[in-house]
Amino acid sequence: MHNIHPAWRNDVKKNKMKYVLSFFLLVCMLTVLAACKGNNQENLNKNGQEQQGDPPQTSAPQTDLSAEGDAPSSAPVAVAPMPEDNFGTFYEIFVYSFCDSDGDGIGDINGLIEKLDYLNDGNPATAEDLGVNGIWLMPVTQAGTYHKYDVEDYYNIDTEYGTNEDFERLLEECHRRGMKVIIDLVVNHSSGRNPWFLSAKKSIAVEPCGSETCTVEGLCREHNPYCDYYNFTQTKESGVYYPAAQGWYYEAQFDSNMPDLNFDSEAVRAEIESIIDFWMDMGVDGFRLDAALHFYEGQPSKNTEVLKFITDCTKERNPDAYLVAEVWTSLGEFADYYESGIDSIFNFEFAQQSGIIAKTIASKSSTGRKLLEYAQQMNNLFLQKNANAIDAPFLGNHDTGRISGVMTSKPERIKMAAGVLLTLNGNAFVYYGDEIGMRGSGIDENKRLPMLWSTTDTAGMTRGPVNAEQIESKFGSVEEQQTDETSILNYYREAIRLRNENPELARGAMQVLDGVGDDDIVAVAKTYEGKTVVIIYNFNREETKSLTLDGEYKSMQPSGCLAANGGEALYENGTATLPPYSILIIR
Ligand code: CA
Repeated sequence: MHNIHPAWRNDVKKNKMKYVLSFFLLVCMLTVLAACKGNNQENLNKNGQEQQGDPPQTSAPQTDLSAEGDAPSSAPVAVAPMPEDNFGTFYEIFVYSFCDSDGDGIGDINGLIEKLDYLNDGNPATAEDLGVNGIWLMPVTQAGTYHKYDVEDYYNIDTEYGTNEDFERLLEECHRRGMKVIIDLVVNHSSGRNPWFLSAKKSIAVEPCGSETCTVEGLCREHNPYCDYYNFTQTKESGVYYPAAQGWYYEAQFDSNMPDLNFDSEAVRAEIESIIDFWMDMGVDGFRLDAALHFYEGQPSKNTEVLKFITDCTKERNPDAYLVAEVWTSLGEFADYYESGIDSIFNFEFAQQSGIIAKTIASKSSTGRKLLEYAQQMNNLFLQKNANAIDAPFLGNHDTGRISGVMTSKPERIKMAAGVLLTLNGNAFVYYGDEIGMRGSGIDENKRLPMLWSTTDTAGMTRGPVNAEQIESKFGSVEEQQTDETSILNYYREAIRLRNENPELARGAMQVLDGVGDDDIVAVAKTYEGKTVVIIYNFNREETKSLTLDGEYKSMQPSGCLAANGGEALYENGTATLPPYSILIIR
């Protein structure tokens, strides 16, 4: 049973009439737009009808007329339906560097709310938003560092970011736009300043008192439940053990201030359940699980069991919730973690300098055909491990050099990489700023620079991590790219729009079609719910390429095109002609 947060439900009641009016307008706009769109007509009309016939779940509550007078004065956006599944496009946000609402230079929840229309304005008829279906927020709870992966309090929003009430409002505003929100769940370790750890450190060297009720002030180690939360030993087993108290050491794989939690402890498991409960009750739609490779160091089957535990806890509360884990290792190792039943595991094979997308587009040590055949093989592998697996491709994240640099700052390469990402199966993740070609590599702080909204208007701009180096963007701000039809931003918008309009791209059973002896031009068929699309890629950076399809594909019609260098792709009588670095979708 999907749990609608009471505050949100109430708001929906208040806005019911506005919703009905907005929705009527939305349908009218869709109809007009569909008539102008030629090949997209069928698809858009279909969407319009689906929305008419299948109203969003938010319309379920009965209208309470007595509440009408309390409607907020600001005009609400139309209530868009929530995504029906978790195959789409999610956007990773580092709140610290995104948008600042109160002028202290640090991004915050209210700043993020101000920018939601940029991500998804809730209206599929407009083209001014990115159109993402969900956001992943890097840790937002109370922590000691700027990145907030050292959690001091799992139940409260970090004071730099705002309050739990601000966060509730964020959830409400995202849901109203049809966007899911998942948050980082960092349970491999806590902060060394977490009260659990501070308490445990005080008790760990205190011999058990032997009494039924503890006779020691501050509790002996047997009576203090927090001693069981961490991995304490009396021998310094390796370099990742640090002194806790007289003769005792604790395990901390990442940093001495990030003590590892003990997954053998029932109390820790109960605590994790209670954290999941807390945020799901508030309305979050799922979690990104940090450092799942390290729950038990070097013990993949135990880590898989922890993922199963967290997946079961979450799905029990909401079967539609979405979970994605970071298991940063090779394909052969992370694929096995799908046996936990988790929805997604980030697919590092596509990402960063060493990934197959960079190898194909930047270093040319692979071919387009190999890339897509590999994508098909991986998808099949994941489905063997878990019939409900949702691949989670991405180009880069807060721990990797940005894709712009990987693609040597060449706009056509950056676009082609995005086009490939956004036509892959699964739930594609876009790291904030990548859609405007922001750069950043080297120290972690450089990978987390302020979102470049504008170069002239400083409103909302953050100052970024203190130690970050000054890195100039080569491609202009959001403000500048919005009005440039050929910008990286507008390429991303178009690619995500096509992904939303053609559900087969993310969900279809994939088949790389026979080649024509040229590995630069490749056609991939994807079939979902009885419908097939074919995606044709030209990976050549300079030459126009052609390919001829026959049989069932011959009568298909173009549904959209992404051309990194401009130009138009054609499809006539089974022959596709694609300009350099372009992707054509036919259906
Ligand atoms: Ca702020």
